Order: sequence, then C-alpha cells, then structure tokens
Amino acid sequence: MRERPNRHSYAGRITRAYVLLLCAVVTFISMAIVGIVGVYLVKSKQDDSAQLMAALKESFVDGKPDWDAWLQTGGRARHAYVRVSVIGAETDQTYYSRNTRRFLSDTLTTTPLFSHVQYQENQGVYYYRESIVHKDGQVFDYEIWMSLNNMIELLQVIISAIIGITLVGTVLGAWAISLLARRLNRPLATLTQAASGIVAKDNVTYHERLPEPAGPAEVHALAVEFNRLLHSLNAQVIRDNQFVSDASHELRTPLTAIRGHVTLMRRHGNAHPELVPESLAIIEAESQKMQRLIESLLALSRMDHAQLDRVPLDLAALVPRVVARYQSTQPIQVQLPASLIVLANAESLEQILLGLLNNAHKYTPHDTPITISAAQVGQQVALSVADLGPGIPDDAKSKVFDRFYRVDRSRTKHIPGTGLGLAIAARLAALNGGTITVVDNQPRGSCFIVTLPLANSENL
Ligand code: ADP
Repeated sequence: MRERPNRHSYAGRITRAYVLLLCAVVTFISMAIVGIVGVYLVKSKQDDSAQLMAALKESFVDGKPDWDAWLQTGGRARHAYVRVSVIGAETDQTYYSRNTRRFLSDTLTTTPLFSHVQYQENQGVYYYRESIVHKDGQVFDYEIWMSLNNMIELLQVIISAIIGITLVGTVLGAWAISLLARRLNRPLATLTQAASGIVAKDNVTYHERLPEPAGPAEVHALAVEFNRLLHSLNAQVIRDNQFVSDASHELRTPLTAIRGHVTLMRRHGNAHPELVPESLAIIEAESQKMQRLIESLLALSRMDHAQLDRVPLDLAALVPRVVARYQSTQPIQVQLPASLIVLANAESLEQILLGLLNNAHKYTPHDTPITISAAQVGQQVALSVADLGPGIPDDAKSKVFDRFYRVDRSRTKHIPGTGLGLAIAARLAALNGGTITVVDNQPRGSCFIVTLPLANSENL
C-alpha cells in the first residue's frame, strides 16, 4: 500500500505536538491539584464536623440542647445546621438550632457516590454527619449539616485560574515553539532552496554541489551524503557518455575502412578487377570486427542490470572442463588442489577463464606455457592465469580493465581485439562477488588473479 503523502512542515508538527503535550500535562496537573485540594478540604470538613459533633453532645444538659454554649464552641458552629431527635420513654422530642427548621424545609438529596454529601438546589452542597447515642433509656440522634459551598467555590476559582493560565501558556508556548521550530528548520529550508536553485539553472553542470552547513550535525550529514550521491551519479553519467563516445569512435574506424573499399571498388573495380578480392577480404574482416565489437558492447550493457545465480562449484572439475574445450596448440598447465569449492555462476566463470586464456594466447609466443592455478586465501579463492609473454607495464595494470583500453596500440595493432574483453571479465567477476587484478609473473609475463568467495556454510 502506498503511504499517503504528509506535507505538514516540521514547524507545524512540532507546534501541534507541543500544544497537545502541554494540554495533556496541564489537564493532568489540574486534575491532580483539584483532586488533592478537594480531598484535603473534605478531610478538614470531616474533622470540623467530628469536633462539632463532640461539642454538640457536650452542650446537652439534662437531655436538652444549650444552644448558647454550643455557639461558643467556635465560628464554625454558627455556619452549621443541627437537628437532635430524642426518642425517649415518655415523649419524642426534636430540637433544631437556629435557622435549621427553614433549612430543612427544602428536601435534600443524597449524592449516590458520597453518602455524606447532600444537595439542595437553593442551598447548595452540604456535608452531613449523624451520630446515634443510647443513654438513660433514650436514643439521641444528632445530625449536623455543614456547608461545602465555600469549598466548591474555592475549587471553581482554582480550576478557572488553571484553565486561564493554561490557555495563555499554550498560546505563548505555541508561538515560542513555532519560532524555535522554524529556526531549527532553517538549515533544511536553505538546502531545499539550494537544490531548487540547481534544478532551475539553465546550464546544469556535472559539478553541482549543495552547500554543506557546519551544523546541525544531521543536516550537515544529509548534505554530505547527498553530495556524495550526486558525485557518484554524475561520475556514472560521465562514464556512460565516455562509453558511448568511445563505442562510436571504435565503430567508426572499421566503418570508414568498409566505406573506403566500397568506394574504391565502385570507382576502380571495373578498370582494376584484381583489387576486388583484396577489398572484399578487408570488408569482411572489418565487418567481423564490428560484429565482435557490437556483441561485446551488448554483453556489457546487459551485465549492467544482471544478477547471477550462484551455486557451489568445484574448480577441480570446472577448470579442466574449460581447458579441454579451449582448442589451442599452446601448452596449458593446470595446478589445482584435489577439490576447491567456490560460490559462483558456472557459465560466467567459464567465460572469464576463456577470456583470460584467449588473451594469454593472443599476447604471448605460442610455444610458451600458460599456467592455471588456484589456492584458498582466507575466505576467498584465488584463481590465476599466468603466461610468459611481454607482461603489462605498471601504469597500465589498472587501466586494462577499462572499456576500450589497449596497451600500446602500435604493439597490439596487428592482434585483433576490441579492448572490451577484460572489462567484461571484471564485470563478471564483480557479479560473482569477486575481483580481478593483474600482477607481474615470474620470471616474466603477466598473471591475472580472479578472487571468488569460498563456498562455506556462512555464505550458502
Ligand atoms: P583486447 O580485446 O584488446 O584483448 P582486453 O580488454 O582483453 O582487450 O585487454 C586489454 C589490453 O590488455 C589488451 O589490449 C592488451 O594490451 C593487454 N593484455 C591483456 N591480456 C594480456 C596478456 N596476457 N599479456 C599482455 N597484455 C595483455
């Protein structure tokens, strides 16, 4: 499934995340504060009511309340409503403190969760405490109502203050954080602008680079990596252009020869018929050369996107098979251990080996031996093809693997070749997870070494 594009800027995302976080934190803190303050206030109301209840019981003299003594117990008594019901042996009696009768004329409802809290629409919320005492054959039912309205007002003020502070804090914080986020974003925005500037240029060169800011580290690393990618892509494009121009150049030479001889035959063929066979032979040779070149070019371009199936192969079986297929009068010596298993693609490995044998045959006297040997080096296998020919000068050793490179063209002029054989071998070696290099052979000649991964339990 394709991911939906999300084009919100970092500044927007950071601001939104901050505001959400701030709201969550503030809500949590507010609830905690309100909860703690609420519990504390209820607790203090409970203590007050317990003290009042004790004072109320004490203010009862001879089974009757002494309201004046009770009011002297403190300011809190003035704000409480009290009802005392005395259920005695003779008559039942109910006593009310001042205003209690009026207070109780409205019906109070008990809140479902808190049995000690009662509510009345006109009076508000009250804390209710009851105590039943059996004394001298009488039952005293003491009831006290203490207003919770002040406490609720205080909680409302606290909640309003917190909401107000949160709103102001959120707005100011969002503004500050969006400024900060924009500042943090600036290096990235500068890079984007620089990239757009390059794209908008009329003549983009292969040397364009993004500016690499000193900081922050992530943006610096991004710019450096992007420049590396740009450099490697540009290098690839330059190589491809060079390849196309080299290929055209190489094709032009035989084509010019063919056209020259066709013109020669057309103009002088009738007058000098003896020239015709020679010209036809040259045309045939040049067209064969073109065919080889085109086949090699096609092989190379196919390899650009190829992937090879690699399996364990025993060189002790594969090398003799290739040598047997390679028909040449030149002596070939094979020095291999009894078994050496590599992880490779058989067809491509045979192609590499045949190419190296062909070159050894082409560039060395035909009576000198070619030696093929192999040995394990760490987790690799080194397969070498050594000859006793002229060798390859040091400065040309790495270049021989470049496309179209031929050492000293005057020397190899009469030896047919395209300069693509070793480039193909190097690409095939790379597709097999290996490399190819050339070193001097002793006492003379060159030694091509192909390294391949050893087939073991780790890379199977
Ligand atoms: P070519 O088609 O010219 O043989 P290659 O890519 O196979 O192209 O080889 C590139 C060049 O490397 C050759 O032109 C030749 O100059 C040199 N070369 C390759 N193999 C040998 C060798 N065994 N001995 C000496 N020179 C060699």
